Amino acid sequence: MAEFTMELNDEQKEVRDWLHGFAADVIRPAAAEWDEREETPWPVIQEAAKVGIYSLDFYAQQYFDPTGLGIPMAMEELFWGDAGIALSIVGTGLAAVGVLANGTEEQVGTWIPQMYGDANDVKVAAFCSSEPDAGSDVASMRTRAVYDEAKDEWVLNGTKTWATNGGIANVHVVVAVVDPELGSKGHASFIVPPGTPGLAQGQKFKKHGIRASHTAEVILDNVRVPGSCLLGGKEKLDERLARARERAKQSGERVKNAAMATFEASRPAVGAMAVGTARAAYEVALDYAKTREQFGRPIIDNQGVAFQLADMRTSIDAARLLVWRASWMAVNGKPFTAAEGSMSKLFASETAKKVTAQAIQILGGNGYTREYPVERMHRDAAIYTIFEGTSEIQRLVIARTLAGVPIR
Ligand SMILES: Cc1cc2nc3c(=O)[nH]c(=O)nc-3n(C[C@H](O)[C@H](O)[C@H](O)COP(=O)(O)OP(=O)(O)OC[C@H]3O[C@@H](n4cnc5c(N)ncnc54)[C@H](O)[C@@H]3O)c2cc1C
Repeated sequence: MAEFTMELNDEQKEVRDWLHGFAADVIRPAAAEWDEREETPWPVIQEAAKVGIYSLDFYAQQYFDPTGLGIPMAMEELFWGDAGIALSIVGTGLAAVGVLANGTEEQVGTWIPQMYGDANDVKVAAFCSSEPDAGSDVASMRTRAVYDEAKDEWVLNGTKTWATNGGIANVHVVVAVVDPELGSKGHASFIVPPGTPGLAQGQKFKKHGIRASHTAEVILDNVRVPGSCLLGGKEKLDERLARARERAKQSGERVKNAAMATFEASRPAVGAMAVGTARAAYEVALDYAKTREQFGRPIIDNQGVAFQLADMRTSIDAARLLVWRASWMAVNGKPFTAAEGSMSKLFASETAKKVTAQAIQILGGNGYTREYPVERMHRDAAIYTIFEGTSEIQRLVIARTLAGVPIR
């Protein structure tokens, strides 16, 4: 177990400064343009690939950092640059983690490189779980995967929605129902390889914020994938289903809401994204408050402004500490008995929404225009309380642990 410290080590500081440089020099200057265009910023992803930020190697290095701080630190810096562009850069990583966590070595080796492509021909990947009638209630998912034993193929049918990079991805990871009696215990994940017939992009959403990140429906119409595309393999799935059926028989009821604990370890990463956006808006507001003069003095000389900045900074630091704690717990295999992962995501995302609104207030009329970045940051921040589980779902999970109901 790594020794406890509140400081980043030298190697982490070096990586953080390198990422900060990329965020400041490449991401931030492009942010307003891609927000207006509402398109995937391919040239920026390509730049990230050239310097090694957009790659499995980089992501895996941060993911396996024994202190747990590699991923939150990277997320905070990239999202400090711009949330929409950063999500376009890290969205593939979120799909890749699904394969890393559940796939066999062969699946990792085959599919993850195809998710990223290479610096001359970058590709993206999508993780498709949400459906029109299955958002917070993951267990009500309807997309079906049926095994065709004669051909050793799985046949996928259904409609996914809100998929980041959905339809433009080279590789899609699709979660589908293999046994409807088992709720979310009856789900499995599949790779849909590039160019597979039957997979099509549906509606592309025009969004409030993170507009440089592509979000769309994914339609699956008799999509046939080889048996080898079931993540983890058939034997493991059959064992898992048998165990779940046995448990369901013993408790005499259909398994419900079982997926809620799955996200505890990944939620701090979203918290870190929120910290990045909040910090970015706070810095703009601080700088503005020191330079904008009214009544013959900088506006920061008014306690009403300075106290807001003090609260903003305090909340951001508190959010980061919650994120780091949960990330450290995840990497050290600590059980999330008080839903510490959800706590970090809840507090950081609510902080980002609040801090970016305060930043607009401190910039006055300028804050309300697209001439200054805090308007965009406030629109971007609204996503953090929605995706990877809404704030209400985080509270539900935390409350369950307080009430003594185990999170499964
Ligand atoms: C930009 C964007 C990108 C996304 N990217 C992805 C992606 O890549 N892959 C993917 O699979 N999904 C993705 N999502 C989906 C996201 O995870 C869902 O939107 C989210 O889980 C909420 O589901 P919902 O939108 O259906 O809202 P609903 O579940 O319908 O919730 C609506 C409201 O009801 C509240 N609510 C629901 N149940 C309860 C309850 N039990 N108690 C109290 N309140 C409750 C919610 O908190 C919310 O306020 C993305 C979404 C967006 C907007």
